[in-house]
Amino acid sequence: MQSPPAQPVLKIALPLPLRQLFDYLPPASGAGLQAGARVVVPFGTRKLVGVVVDSARGSEVAAAKLVRVAAAPDGAERVLTAESLDLLKWCWNYYKHAPGEVVFNALPPLLRKPGGAIPPPPEQYALTAAGKDRLGQPAGRLKTQYRMLEAMREQALTATQLAALSQNWRKLLDSLADRQWVRAEPRPPAELKPVPGPRLAPGQEGAVNAIAESLGTYRCHLLDGITGSGKTEVYLCLLERVLREGGQALLLVPEIGLTPQLLNRFRTRLGIEPVVTHSGLGDGERLQAWALAKSGSARLVIGTRSALFLPLPDLRMMILDEEHDASFKQQDGFCYSSRDVAVKRAAGLGIPIVLGTATPSLETYNNAVRGRYAWHRLRTRATGASEPRWRVLDLVQQTLHGGISATAMDAIGGVLAKGEQALIFLNRRGYAPVLLCHQCGWHAVCERCDSNRTWHRASRALLCHHCNSVQRVPRMCPDCGADALQGAGEGTERLEQVLAEAFPDAPLLRFDRDTVRRKGEFERMTTKVKSGGPCLLVGTQMLAKGHHFPAVTLAVIVNLDQALYSADYRAVERMGQLMVQVAGRAGRDKLPGEVILQTHYPQHESLQTLLASGYEAFAAEISEHRRAGCLPPFSNHALLRASAHRKDDVRAFLDAAKGCFPEGGAEIFGPFPAMMERRGGRTRWYLLIQAGARSALHRQLDAWLPRIGNLPPARKVRWSVDVDPQEY
Ligand code: ADP
Ligand code: ZN
Ligand code: ZN
Repeated sequence: MQSPPAQPVLKIALPLPLRQLFDYLPPASGAGLQAGARVVVPFGTRKLVGVVVDSARGSEVAAAKLVRVAAAPDGAERVLTAESLDLLKWCWNYYKHAPGEVVFNALPPLLRKPGGAIPPPPEQYALTAAGKDRLGQPAGRLKTQYRMLEAMREQALTATQLAALSQNWRKLLDSLADRQWVRAEPRPPAELKPVPGPRLAPGQEGAVNAIAESLGTYRCHLLDGITGSGKTEVYLCLLERVLREGGQALLLVPEIGLTPQLLNRFRTRLGIEPVVTHSGLGDGERLQAWALAKSGSARLVIGTRSALFLPLPDLRMMILDEEHDASFKQQDGFCYSSRDVAVKRAAGLGIPIVLGTATPSLETYNNAVRGRYAWHRLRTRATGASEPRWRVLDLVQQTLHGGISATAMDAIGGVLAKGEQALIFLNRRGYAPVLLCHQCGWHAVCERCDSNRTWHRASRALLCHHCNSVQRVPRMCPDCGADALQGAGEGTERLEQVLAEAFPDAPLLRFDRDTVRRKGEFERMTTKVKSGGPCLLVGTQMLAKGHHFPAVTLAVIVNLDQALYSADYRAVERMGQLMVQVAGRAGRDKLPGEVILQTHYPQHESLQTLLASGYEAFAAEISEHRRAGCLPPFSNHALLRASAHRKDDVRAFLDAAKGCFPEGGAEIFGPFPAMMERRGGRTRWYLLIQAGARSALHRQLDAWLPRIGNLPPARKVRWSVDVDPQEY
């Protein structure tokens, strides 16, 4: 073999599902492209955007085949800092995912395209001396322009603020600039104007001091506080401190936690406009948020999962609220836990990170138990309100009306009579989870998934909640032709109907994905609830999180029994978290609260522990079950998932893959069918790799994965790796 020529070569990440970087020659101009810079490269007949990850002398690709980078669209400017590149490298090594997809996941969508460009640093517009003189004279014919000048009298204005004055502001501003009355200047970081909050309780103060003490070094803090214990106040004090010292801070929240209510609280208390980012924003807005973060002019960034990867040159603290929330784990494509990556980022930067929750995940709980995380407990409600009282209703032999027992109905009636509010929780939307024929037993199933179709009565649809396919509701049974179709079980739509019949005079609001579809709808509904007066709230998870409804004094949990005997070892943990979150909605203000739990299994051990001794004891107990079963977090899991239309193809691939699994400390089990074997028309199975030591798991995966792609049966399946899986 010839020795490769020692010419400089760029290692480039391209948005392709391949576990490799691609070698290119630097652009003809010879510009010294640094790691983190965007490039455009020819790839086959296409042009792709890529990001330079590294440079090297020489390549394994034959010199004659090496192609040159076509363009460097951002010049010398980089889209990824050394810090973000290091974090992303760690991500693709740890999660075994294609580097290009990991890198592109971290870029705003517009920068993933050849046409996209880094926006110029944000500007603001200020009066010149001549502009001030002009204000000394009457407006004359200027009108709107004069109003703009006046608005700038006290302070420079941003584009957003000017846009509020006139739709035509851009043109008017240009003419003001032409006359040299106004000039553009770089926007300085927003100034903090905090207003004092409540006096901290000793527990809160202790947490704030301990966390603030660790500023400037890496430390992971678990802020373990019951709902209403004032965790958000702790965040506010810490943020005020970080921002006052000129740092940037990042607050990550679950997908449905990003409410105007929460943002307002931060805005008013800190007197600073947080930069908000989440996947629901338009591409332009996401690019803006990214640019503000990168320029350092965004001091406080609040966002969901993906905000974790924003460039933040002066990041000094991260906070993850509701750390146990499942939405922090990305479930498809690049499967990563934003909580774990956030902790990694904090460690890399040498800054503290706060994980806040009333119901720590077992992973976090055990890290706290082992002393790897500092543990701050807040066990009383900040307002002095007492914790809600639990009442367990044994459903055995109870008559149910639309899923609600007579006892619960009475309690709801009592609450309404007192002019208070009740929340009825059921984690299932639609009218009924099953539509069946009373004559022959036919029931509506999804032909593409192992699942029944949910009957949505108002929209006359049979919807599969797993692949979203829709069918119309038949009038007669498609099998026997009888006019005997009826729903079995209940969803929130049915609960709404039953409660409306039972309490015709009470205002009733239903919160689920079907009713809260339109933008602003959720806000409108919560405002109505908060205005007080008797009212019923029916809803799913959406109601369980973070909201403060002062007049709710009763929460009814209609049914969570499924979780108690589920094959999913995490089901009980999730059930406990959900129960505590729902209960946390009751009696948050002056009025005492009650929670009614309807169950067929009041004697269930973990349920009893949770009710009698609280979440921490519950976590300790189910932890012991996990330890005994050698399950995470007491062992490390990774899955090799595969899917195809034909089961034989999936099995053949996984059998072959298992056959070439290397020896070592990690063991391989399976193939097993996924918890839902068929979804969206594909059959899904997996292999489970389990190890006591994380290092063994990774060593073997790294040796194994390159062999898998070359197996002949791999061509017939889609396969992916999920490290630290949440679902099986
Ligand atoms: P959490 O985030 O733990 O649910 P919050 O920070 O939202 O708790 O606090 C719950 C309620 O108690 C809020 O209305 C908040 O303003 C109030 N609160 C928090 N801390 C204090 C305090 N030290 N003194 C008085 N009220 C407080
Ligand atoms: Zn029938
Ligand atoms: Zn389906």
